[in-house]
Amino acid sequence: MRFRSTADPTVRVDLRTAVLHALPAPDALYVPERIDPLPPEFWREASRLPFPALALRLARALLGDELGERVLQRIVEDAFDFEVPLVPLSGRLHVLELFHGPTLAFKDFAARFMARLMAVLAPAGGDALHVLVATSGDTGSAVAHGFRGVPGIRVHVLYPAGRVSRIQEAQLTTIGDNVAALEVDGTFDDCQRLVKAALLDPDLGRRLRLASANSVNVARLVPQSFYYAWARSRLGPDASVVFAVPSGNLGNLTAGLFAQRLGMPVRAFVAAQNVNDTLVRYLATGRVEPRETAATLSNAMDVSRPSNLARIVDLYGADAARARADVHGFRFDDEQTRAAMREVSTRYGYLVDPHGAVAYLGLESFRAQVERDVVGVFLATAHPAKFPELVERETGRRVELPPELREALARPKQARRLAADFGALREYLLDLCG
Ligand SMILES: *Cc1c(COP(=O)(O)O)cnc(C)c1O
Repeated sequence: MRFRSTADPTVRVDLRTAVLHALPAPDALYVPERIDPLPPEFWREASRLPFPALALRLARALLGDELGERVLQRIVEDAFDFEVPLVPLSGRLHVLELFHGPTLAFKDFAARFMARLMAVLAPAGGDALHVLVATSGDTGSAVAHGFRGVPGIRVHVLYPAGRVSRIQEAQLTTIGDNVAALEVDGTFDDCQRLVKAALLDPDLGRRLRLASANSVNVARLVPQSFYYAWARSRLGPDASVVFAVPSGNLGNLTAGLFAQRLGMPVRAFVAAQNVNDTLVRYLATGRVEPRETAATLSNAMDVSRPSNLARIVDLYGADAARARADVHGFRFDDEQTRAAMREVSTRYGYLVDPHGAVAYLGLESFRAQVERDVVGVFLATAHPAKFPELVERETGRRVELPPELREALARPKQARRLAADFGALREYLLDLCG
């Protein structure tokens, strides 16, 4: 498989380049050159396949055979060693729980797959590959856990001191092993600036092999198509299925659209956004008009310039009307999100995190405004225990902390304090060369 740039179709690269150098140009991303549908028999018989076997088939379709089947098989078996439950709440309503990975959010799918793929693709040699990640919270821990124990790779996570939640900090700073946490005296933007500066510094580049676990990497997108195919295969060949996706940077939604291009039978996708609703407005008007980002309860979706929008625009030939045939956009504010958390709890006895609650609302809106008689699946992207105070306040119920989280909270914090200053990061990195 070759990958082409969304900005210039004549730019085509191989898998290694697309993964290790994720940005073809400042405002462009790589996409698979073409996505051909898998045969209808595959989709009819997919219900018999376990998750890794299904994942392998899709991975080969989207990435090609460059790595060989055995290598890909090892990657998917190793990356997806956790449950992906499709939980029925009623006959026509299901929740796809994507939070059973080590950091309890769906970013584990992408991060674990990408880490293993990078380890295979990084040129062999004696020196470690140093992966730098700036994080405002969730991405850093998923990426760090994803790379944990992967040979030949060391991860350095930069996070803003005092600006991540207690749970997020515990998840970032207690991993140890080949993962170092750097607590930066500054904001998330400072962390991002430092990472960029390091990646662009020619002297560092000569002495250390540096890479970034950038969120725009096509290797983070591909594995997210697997769970759509998995859920779809469990719902019977004739069901009219709608997936509701809590959407921010739009990686999750784009991966669902990839699965559809692979022939997955689906009635529609719902893009459920909080008040940061750039996609919802694009679908309505055909114009990309980012506004100032607003802070919301579903904070992982507080994105006003979603980078994967370029891929969605590309998939539909920049025709918003065509995109509207597959994707229905709805937006919800915090008040509605809280109400949905309460409603899901009282009506179904189920605790949902604020991101999943937005997805649930999107599905309800689709039923009310587009088509009632569908089998709905909403994606729960984070474990409710990551938002214990909010969940308890809205539902009156306590969330049990999963063992992973209890253990992380009990382990000692290991972080190195760093000034928000490139000189300090540079010194830290140079020390690694010995
Ligand atoms: C990142 C994230 C999202 C948004 O997913 P995108 O792929 O960026 O649209 C939703 N929910 C949670 C919990 C997340 O961490």
